[in-house]
Amino acid sequence: MSEVVVVGGGPAGLSAALICARRGLDTTIVEKRTFPVIKACGEGLMPGGVDALKHLVRQELINKMEYQKFSGIRYIAPNGECTSGYFGKGDGWGIERSELSKLLSQAAEQEPKIKILENTVATLKGSPEQPIVHFNHQTLRPNLLIAADGLHSPIRSWAGLNGLPSKLKRWGLRQHYQITPWTNLVEVHWSKDMEAYVTPVSPNTVGVAILSRRELISSWQKPISLKETVQVFSNLGPKLLLSEAKDQLIGIGPLHQTVKRTGTGKVVLVGDAAGYLDAITGEGISNAMEQALLVDRILEKQKEKPRLDELVIDYSNQLPALMRSYYWLTRLTLLLHRRPSLVNQVVKVFQKTPWLFNYLLDLNSARSFSEAASHSLQIHGRNHGSELLKAFIRRSIGEIRKKS
Ligand SMILES: Cc1cc2nc3c(=O)[nH]c(=O)nc-3n(C[C@H](O)[C@H](O)[C@H](O)COP(=O)(O)OP(=O)(O)OC[C@H]3O[C@@H](n4cnc5c(N)ncnc54)[C@H](O)[C@@H]3O)c2cc1C
Repeated sequence: MSEVVVVGGGPAGLSAALICARRGLDTTIVEKRTFPVIKACGEGLMPGGVDALKHLVRQELINKMEYQKFSGIRYIAPNGECTSGYFGKGDGWGIERSELSKLLSQAAEQEPKIKILENTVATLKGSPEQPIVHFNHQTLRPNLLIAADGLHSPIRSWAGLNGLPSKLKRWGLRQHYQITPWTNLVEVHWSKDMEAYVTPVSPNTVGVAILSRRELISSWQKPISLKETVQVFSNLGPKLLLSEAKDQLIGIGPLHQTVKRTGTGKVVLVGDAAGYLDAITGEGISNAMEQALLVDRILEKQKEKPRLDELVIDYSNQLPALMRSYYWLTRLTLLLHRRPSLVNQVVKVFQKTPWLFNYLLDLNSARSFSEAASHSLQIHGRNHGSELLKAFIRRSIGEIRKKS
């Protein structure tokens, strides 16, 4: 009998399954596609996510994976000005989703307590208090159902955990290009209507992801390449014109999904299923793995026998605090989309105060003001960074309140 069923074999599901199995729980993963599983993604794993990945997967397996380190983020403003921020602690990794999927699924295969069912669609019956999982004419009645079934999670809806629909309708697309990465930074190119994210993922490949509003997606469905679309970015378009697309264009949206809670009865939501704001800060995979590590900390505290009903309550109570800085920084960064002149100004400010950009990047990874401030202090020798950031955030909140 499987005590835990995980629906979805993306980074969230595989990470959560690894944690449960290592805590002694018989765990079944049900994934509707075959591994390695891909998804539209910018494929930049921030330093916090790299730490989490190292915690989840043994180094011997990581050594076999192809990835490209990056040391920070470069913003290229609509007026062509640019500025770069650098991580204070550790590197980020650019990893193709197929590589990440291979890595995590191999780690899962090596766990004796994990059973993997790929190419298998799970459907739900019963209730969140007594979930019944159906697949391939089989039925499971788990003590814990982990819904890791992605952005538009059918289980979230079945469990009555969907939040209110959002007015923010942003979509994402991605494609890989055969070209030698020209920098060891992730580049974010800003224009009036969209952003392009360029991530080095191997010595001869970059991933290009685009985020924009829904109205623009219809014109993107026709071309099989992003090349035409990225011509609005004068620093990026010409580079891609000279290179070959390596795969098909894929996309997903709308991105913003809200939830009432992240657990009820015997069901917990992890990864994008647990709610998602936007990919603008590149934190989705890190969030998914951090959530799995939260499950780990809760199970560790329970010591002797895991009490899965309590886990659901503790997890949904503790998750908002863990996600707070992601939501703050993502909301703050979203103020820039569709405001080209504001991006021009922000880039100018970062050019004059590079430590501020570094500090914000550290905050994105560190998930607490004090941790980021201490990196900032060690690295940039500034003790007023935290005060300045608070003032910046206060001003932004004022702007959001005025808008709503
Ligand atoms: C354009 C774009 C750029 C992004 N850039 C970044 C970035 O640079 N860095 C970053 O960290 N994050 C980024 N993200 C976010 C990141 O892609 C997601 O946060 C991450 O994939 C979430 O993982 P997940 O496991 O929750 O969901 P998914 O990866 O979507 O996995 C869900 C899985 O569930 C399976 N499934 C669904 N229903 C069923 C069912 N009924 N039965 C069985 N299986 C099922 C699906 O097949 C899928 O494999 C980006 C997102 C977008 C859209």
